[in-house]
Amino acid sequence: MAGRCSVLASGSTGNAFYIESNEDRLLVDAGLSGKQLDRLFQEAGADPSVLSGILVTHEHSDHIKGLGIFARKYNLPIYANEKTWNVMEKQLGKLTSDQKFHFEPNQVKTFGTLDVESFSVSHDAVDPMFFNFHAQGKKVALVTDLGYVSERIKKTIEDADAYVFEANHDISMLQMGHYPWSVKRRILGDSGHVSNEDCGLALSEIISNKTKRVYLAHLSKDNNMKELARMSVDQVLKERGIQMNLFDTDPNTPTALYDVI
Ligand SMILES: [Zn+2]
Ligand SMILES: [Zn+2]
Repeated sequence: MAGRCSVLASGSTGNAFYIESNEDRLLVDAGLSGKQLDRLFQEAGADPSVLSGILVTHEHSDHIKGLGIFARKYNLPIYANEKTWNVMEKQLGKLTSDQKFHFEPNQVKTFGTLDVESFSVSHDAVDPMFFNFHAQGKKVALVTDLGYVSERIKKTIEDADAYVFEANHDISMLQMGHYPWSVKRRILGDSGHVSNEDCGLALSEIISNKTKRVYLAHLSKDNNMKELARMSVDQVLKERGIQMNLFDTDPNTPTALYDVI
């Protein structure tokens, strides 16, 4: 019995997450070119040709850039909700009918030994959703593009063994930076992205004794730095008496495969 995961790439330049449990292997999002995705799989030590499918969180290009190409290359089924299919399908190129599957928010789909639970988030896409992965009594929560962490989401993702959680920006770096005001407002708004501080606050409410590690994800390249994200989140947690192993993610380098199960 084994189960591992890797954040293959994370950030506004492209996102991809890999998880496996026994013989069941999933990719979540394919937001980089097919070539880059192949390299990331190789560097992580995972084999894309044996994937069970690709799950899609939402239609932003940093999540679907290589989706069509990659699905065609390895003849993989794609799982996305109906509204997301409607807006992204044209961009994916030719797919066969056995590559198109629906996976709506607030559903559970089973891939062999992996149960995948979808949940809606507030983000400026048509119907964005993220996932909890359950296998062999363990839980991994992935949530990297959301404006704010609602009580409903906290309840859904609490008590996981591992998190991949958004720490998008440092609020003062964003406020002082060169982005136009409209963009700043989008990022700071309820359907934009989660700041380092809000990441720490949310984590302080949801992590438990079970939680072994947290990957800080989707860092803004202009308004954040790995060190700063780690320190800010750590500080918020420490102030609340919580010690947690925080791990970086990177836009170009996969995290080492982690034995979560
Ligand atoms: Zn997005
Ligand atoms: Zn994104």
